[in-house]
Amino acid sequence: MGSATDVYAQLKEQLKSSKAEILFPSDGEKYEESIKRWSEHCEKRAACVVKISSADDASATVKFVKENKIPFVVRGGGHSTSGSASIEDGLVIDLSLMRGVTVNPEKKTVRAEGGALWVDVDEAAAQYGLATVGGTVNHTGVGGLTLGGGYGYLSGKYGLTIDNLLQVEIVLASGEQVIASETENPDLFWAIRGAGQNFGVVTAFTFRGYEQTNQVFAGPLIFLPDKLPQVVEFMNKFQTKNDGNQAFLLGFTCPPPAHAPVVLTQVFHNGTQEEGNAFFKDLIDLGPVANMTSMMPYEKLNAAMNEGQGFGGRKMFGGGAYKLPLAPPFVQALFDEFIGFSTTQPAMTDSILLFETIPYAKVVEVPNEKMAFSNRGEYYNLATMIKWANPALDDTVREFSRALLKKASQSAGVVQDEKVRSTEGVGVYGNYVNPDVPASEVYGGNAKKLAELKGKYDPENLFDRGTRLVPRPVVVVN
Ligand SMILES: Cc1cc2nc3c(=O)[nH]c(=O)nc-3n(C[C@H](O)[C@H](O)[C@H](O)COP(=O)(O)OP(=O)(O)OC[C@H]3O[C@@H](n4cnc5c(N)ncnc54)[C@H](O)[C@@H]3O)c2cc1C
Repeated sequence: MGSATDVYAQLKEQLKSSKAEILFPSDGEKYEESIKRWSEHCEKRAACVVKISSADDASATVKFVKENKIPFVVRGGGHSTSGSASIEDGLVIDLSLMRGVTVNPEKKTVRAEGGALWVDVDEAAAQYGLATVGGTVNHTGVGGLTLGGGYGYLSGKYGLTIDNLLQVEIVLASGEQVIASETENPDLFWAIRGAGQNFGVVTAFTFRGYEQTNQVFAGPLIFLPDKLPQVVEFMNKFQTKNDGNQAFLLGFTCPPPAHAPVVLTQVFHNGTQEEGNAFFKDLIDLGPVANMTSMMPYEKLNAAMNEGQGFGGRKMFGGGAYKLPLAPPFVQALFDEFIGFSTTQPAMTDSILLFETIPYAKVVEVPNEKMAFSNRGEYYNLATMIKWANPALDDTVREFSRALLKKASQSAGVVQDEKVRSTEGVGVYGNYVNPDVPASEVYGGNAKKLAELKGKYDPENLFDRGTRLVPRPVVVVN
């Protein structure tokens, strides 16, 4: 092997007739921009960033890193807080030039390139009166969100993002370009739906689209903390009252400008204003300090929470679960603990503990064995999103979040211990946790089959940055 510069010169030569951009630390601003991530603590100084422009570029780059034994990662939208899309000294296969979306209105399908963001999908589909199940913040990447499962406002009606994934075009560890669907490479398709980050570079996703021509009713209702018990009572009733066309998010946070604790709710109804106001009447009657609900086109809905969710600063997601009904004193104790922690530092006040009451009836129609994703059960996702500034607090934040979520999940009736768990899902959403969590915690009974499929599709474990399905290879540094 030659010097690092010689090695990358070979890659440049191989990609010279493509539109790929190859960036090095010496490239200044362009390089610095390319290593930016949603959370600052995931920014690492890669030796080389390859912005690929096609599946052929992906193949050539994968073959190159394999041949030269260069550690690498894949970057979709750059939103994971696990650090799995960034690397110190290695190579980044960056998909940000591949954001094209095409819609087939006859077949009602939407094909998005591997680096597309949800805004690209939402807006392209809307031109044909269609929508699919995408993320609730539209600058999130289609790649990571889909490969890990995918929850959105439409999940109550249509299930998870992966339940609406028809096929992927993927570059495997061998550099080969294949299709995975129910009929082509079905075992690979099984693995990709939940553990996709471990199996290759997905250069395109094809989703089922649904007619979505009506506007939707949505927006935040903000309450003072003394209303928390009644808001919890509303959430308990929501569970039996919804028909899959609604969603209800409950968050604890201290938002700007006042940075005082509030009970933040976000409501959604896929229907008219009258219906929405009637469905959420008991909540509205509690007297929110702010009612910002309105009618909006579906493609604007996923932009509604973009503000305050941009790149920059240190941030971390953590995941747990809860069952309804919840006792108001139990939720009050979580409120006190979370707000207590997030007010210890000025940079943390904007953090949030989020109860994502997205109806699960449709999600649990699919058994956990049907695909790698194993978080289907009669419970909801609980998430922490903690913001902070001081790197010295990295471990403190992680430990607080983990302990709170574990305690909350177990007290709220969701068992996350494999020994006691039966047919229910794992109680952990893989996209909200770090890759150091054991595979059995994220994939439960599916972990064994995933390890076997790794042996078939990526025997050298080149794609080793997601949840570890097999042990990482030992890297010998000369
Ligand atoms: C503000 C915000 C809002 C969110 N809202 C939701 C939500 O509503 N619903 C939900 O389910 N989740 C949500 N999430 C979590 C989200 O699913 C994860 O953060 C996800 O990892 C983001 O994907 P990405 O492509 O942007 O991230 P990246 O960091 O780029 O990638 C995440 C992982 O996927 C891999 N990857 C990405 N693209 C590809 C590809 N094309 N081929 C192969 N591997 C790839 C990367 O290598 C990495 O391991 C949210 C996250 C944030 C930060």
